[in-house]
Amino acid sequence: MSGRLLGIVWSERFREISFSHPMIRDVSKQRISKFKEMVSKIEDVIFISPEPSSYNDLLEVHEESLLNKIKEVSSLDHIGFLDSGDTVHYPGMFDDVLLVSGSTLTAISMSKFLEYVYIPLGGFHHATRSKSMGFCPINDVNLGLSRLLKRGEKVALVDVDAHHGNGIEEMFYSRFVLKINVFAYDGSFFPGTGDPSRRGEGEGSWCNYNVGMPLGAGDDSFEEALRLLKLVEDFKPTYLIVVAGVDGHKDDGLRSLSLTSRSYNSLGIKIGNLARRIGAKVISYGGGGYGPGSALSMFSFVQGLREVKVEEEVKTEDEEKRKYVKKLVDSFFESFTCGLKQ
Ligand SMILES: [Zn+2]
Repeated sequence: MSGRLLGIVWSERFREISFSHPMIRDVSKQRISKFKEMVSKIEDVIFISPEPSSYNDLLEVHEESLLNKIKEVSSLDHIGFLDSGDTVHYPGMFDDVLLVSGSTLTAISMSKFLEYVYIPLGGFHHATRSKSMGFCPINDVNLGLSRLLKRGEKVALVDVDAHHGNGIEEMFYSRFVLKINVFAYDGSFFPGTGDPSRRGEGEGSWCNYNVGMPLGAGDDSFEEALRLLKLVEDFKPTYLIVVAGVDGHKDDGLRSLSLTSRSYNSLGIKIGNLARRIGAKVISYGGGGYGPGSALSMFSFVQGLREVKVEEEVKTEDEEKRKYVKKLVDSFFESFTCGLKQ
């Protein structure tokens, strides 16, 4: 067993934060605390205290009207919704929003000293410039991408949440960022975006890859999807941003895929190896997760980054679905350019 140093952005406040629907708020909070317990037993982990971001930092990726709305509802004394019924607001939530978005900025500054930084409470990939959506009041990933591009970094995004990262695609569709999304897709499953034929435009032409897996796809389909990491290797980013959402686990409360913690471990191992080969820094997020398998999946991912195998669950397979994903991934290999000559 090896042990590579991993930075984890952590605040005790994280245990209390969830912007999810009231029905699943408790379970989404519990996974954060359970993950902290599990990861605290590992040596070679350092916990980094996040600095809150400022209102102006968030203006980089959001309209003033959205930020003012969140600030305003934050002063109310009851719980309500920021959208049509998914994303909650509660008294004092604006401070949590600043803490969560500041975590990304803290991760970026700490990445000067660390190869891998993980933010367990983060990866709010549904919020757009003007709207909160899907348990995401703001979009912390977009803030990170925007900040790194401003610094002149070359960035690739790997987003493997069960739900397509619509907020990221919308903002960076025409930007020179390689984007690989792996999620559950049938054309209508939330958020309904993620059409595999959308490959980017302008500076971002042929940089957008949506691996929409059939609902119920298992570990074998996910392994097929991960073959696309070869594109990241060819692209050679200086930073690799990974939304490692664990709501694709087979026991998740919002069940849509049939993955086990093995898939998340495999993702971590592959991302870790890849980053070492090309010399990229990794900033990763815990993403979504609403079930009993969430904490183990998160733990398996970070252990993977450190080259440690976790094989506690039985692999899930579905040959038909795997074949479908294989075909889709093969077609992406045929068209990939993203700034590279073919
Ligand atoms: Zn999700």
